[in-house]
Amino acid sequence: MGSLLDDTLNAALEAVWPTRCVGCERPGELLCDQCAANLPYIDPRWACPRCGAPFGWLVCSECLTTEGPAELAYSAGVSVLEFRDAAARMVVAYKDKDERRLAGVLAGLLARALPRGWLAWADALTWIPCDRKARERRGFDHMAELAEILAGQTGRAAISLLHKKEVGDQRKLNRQEREENIRASFSVDSAAVAALIESVAASSSSRATNPVSPMPTSAATPTNPVSPMPASAATPTNPGRSTHATSPRAPHLILLDDVLTTGATLHAAASVLLQAGVGEIRVATLARVW
Ligand SMILES: [Zn+2]
Ligand SMILES: [Zn+2]
Repeated sequence: MGSLLDDTLNAALEAVWPTRCVGCERPGELLCDQCAANLPYIDPRWACPRCGAPFGWLVCSECLTTEGPAELAYSAGVSVLEFRDAAARMVVAYKDKDERRLAGVLAGLLARALPRGWLAWADALTWIPCDRKARERRGFDHMAELAEILAGQTGRAAISLLHKKEVGDQRKLNRQEREENIRASFSVDSAAVAALIESVAASSSSRATNPVSPMPTSAATPTNPVSPMPASAATPTNPGRSTHATSPRAPHLILLDDVLTTGATLHAAASVLLQAGVGEIRVATLARVW
């Protein structure tokens, strides 16, 4: 990005195929001010605190089962937009229609929508990766790219922690089998998770009463031998908050994805991260299907 060749290429493309607003198609910007103002933003005051649905400020109907709130591996969720109209076109244009330049616009929307305190709470950002086929089709991992830009905008490191295999045909499976299938499609990058755990444990035991300092960038490329997981990480029943001020804390993550429909993908990914020793996960998505 930003090289002379890219600039020349962009100028040539602009001449034959001018930038148009994803909302109204007026030439000029990727998203014009008017369309940006009129996007179907979800008002956080009324949103479901678990999945970010536009209605359900206590807990929305989809997060509530007959036995009470559904078990979720993530503790809170926020979505920026309702997945409809220009918001849906924008997300689809970014991930499937080759409009990679929208990454900056979308990261900016996410950055502004993160609830107060989330960034100070989080040790790092991570994301739901594409499986190999989707990445080959798109030519890039759209959430990885967005997370990188969001990291630049927020000062929180974006770390690749998950791998995803293709999920086979799920039509013949019941709900539980589907959930198991999705969970099995995720695996964690154990070295990266171990490096994160080690770095957070070190910083939380040395400065337990202070806000956590930003992750050192070296955590993304661990050069130290992998340390064993702290014992507390072996019981991932949502340890999150440490009761003892000086005991090492397990990492807090903001997990990013594009669209939340049922939350099954995020739940599965969060489960494997908790199992690997992450302490607590909150999710942030661009759009909620509702
Ligand atoms: Zn517009
Ligand atoms: Zn909900």
